[in-house]
Amino acid sequence: MNHPLQCQCGTLKGYVSHPETACRGICYCKDCQAYAHFLGKPGEILDEMGGSDVIATLPQNVTFTQGVESLTCMSLSGRGMLRWYASCCNTPIGNTARDFKVSHVGLLHNCLQAPSISLDSAFGPVRMKVGMKSGKGSPKGMAVSTTVAILGFMTRLIRTRLNGGYKLTPFFNPDDGRPRVQPKVLTPDERARLMEAVEVF
Ligand SMILES: [Zn+2]
Ligand SMILES: [Zn+2]
Repeated sequence: MNHPLQCQCGTLKGYVSHPETACRGICYCKDCQAYAHFLGKPGEILDEMGGSDVIATLPQNVTFTQGVESLTCMSLSGRGMLRWYASCCNTPIGNTARDFKVSHVGLLHNCLQAPSISLDSAFGPVRMKVGMKSGKGSPKGMAVSTTVAILGFMTRLIRTRLNGGYKLTPFFNPDDGRPRVQPKVLTPDERARLMEAVEVF
């Protein structure tokens, strides 16, 4: 069964296929926190320890059905990951690597809220936690299940690399691997200001 995906205002809509194969995790890293501040929604995106609830899946499992022209992306630095969001209402959608051959997207919980089904029922419980040292307070790790989940990713990554499945992605142009929109890359000053906001939040 497909799981619905949409931005908060409903302009951008789509779905995630094979939700049962996705892996849910929480990232506490400073970059993810800075991104939540960039969008102006730290209270909606981050949990009380500064963690972002992320559902990791293959990009080929993500389909946009309307409003894709509002899909845009930014990066915290010239080499940072591409962080895709809906420009209509600043809803975070998902994070990808810069190289589309790394077939991975971490979808943010905000675009996967559905009245009919909870995240737990659709994607299962959190099985992965990363970036704990940047968390607020002392988030507990999940070392064993995190390692198992990462090994699972590596396997899928290699498989999509070999069978060309990485070319099936709504985030990149399959012919030349360029992102579908030019990422807005923050200047060092812009980035520093967000990091200050992370410290005081
Ligand atoms: Zn929107
Ligand atoms: Zn992170």
